[in-house]
Amino acid sequence: MRREGCMLAAVYRKEARGLRLEDLPEPLPGPGQMKISVRYASICGSDLFLVRSGQLADGTVLGHEMSGVVDTLGDGVRGFLPGQPVIVRPVGCGSCAACASAQENLCPQRLAIGLGALKGAFAEYLVVPQEMAIPVPEGLDLKLACLAEPLATALHAIRLAGIGSNDRVVVLGAGGIGLCSVALLKALGVRWILVSEPQEGRRNRAMALGAQRGVDPMAEDLGKAVEEWKGKEGVTAVMECAGNSETTKLALQMVAPGGKVALVGLVKGTVDWAPALTMLKQIRIQGSFANTQAECRECLGMMARGELNVEPMLEGVIPFQELPACMDRLLHAPGEGKLIVEVSFG
Ligand SMILES: [Zn+2]
Ligand SMILES: [Zn+2]
Repeated sequence: MRREGCMLAAVYRKEARGLRLEDLPEPLPGPGQMKISVRYASICGSDLFLVRSGQLADGTVLGHEMSGVVDTLGDGVRGFLPGQPVIVRPVGCGSCAACASAQENLCPQRLAIGLGALKGAFAEYLVVPQEMAIPVPEGLDLKLACLAEPLATALHAIRLAGIGSNDRVVVLGAGGIGLCSVALLKALGVRWILVSEPQEGRRNRAMALGAQRGVDPMAEDLGKAVEEWKGKEGVTAVMECAGNSETTKLALQMVAPGGKVALVGLVKGTVDWAPALTMLKQIRIQGSFANTQAECRECLGMMARGELNVEPMLEGVIPFQELPACMDRLLHAPGEGKLIVEVSFG
């Protein structure tokens, strides 16, 4: 039985080391805020990272890749209507130097859902400042719209690193961000994409998304495979999406003189790195963090116009009630594609 004024949420509990389904008070929108009814939320590698870290505050509601429909508008909200499909994205303070240069991803006051500060989308409803909502273009399936956020993270890295259609790109790691990177590279006209990924299911999805060559680095000699594939141009760009010290080192070694290395994965350790090699080869090492609202809008638009094929990265859609068990499973055995939680209660 549902309790009056309550909603179902998947809440992080420290003693359970995972998520538990609980009743939480249904949030109400204050002035300038809106209440959104969540439809889909995808599970991100960083959700698993946060749960695994043990650093997450008890009671946190995760979920930052989402889509839903506007439920109720708070006082003073203009430009949105109840029933309108939206996604929710982090916003900056709007007044610091980072925000002034449209780099709100670097704002020290950046406000995000599902990462601690504001309650996330692993719940029936959430309340956010209206600036965080982005309308979903007409005709775009909400199931796909929730992927705009991780896709925008890949787009951000590709743009910052200056990767273009003539590049020969090696993508190291085909987890969520690696798969999004392959999809974006393909959509942007890159023809030469080699993906290195030990898990077969992920590798197959990367190939279906448009990678030209998939390599299992545990079974094959990656250096040799790259050597045979790279042609006379060499590897002109590498995207490190594995978040691993070893692959980061590999990226710096395999990139051609004048090439670029985008650091997209979160590497916890350090890397033994020779600055002289970077200098002599004139390598551009580009760190890339998250994405901007503009990039999220762009990815929504590309999907709506059919320019961005994301279907092969979908591993499945799971009912909300199965989310805690699914998270437990993923903590022990990583999935092979994006898992999307359907948050609906008919
Ligand atoms: Zn994410
Ligand atoms: Zn700011």
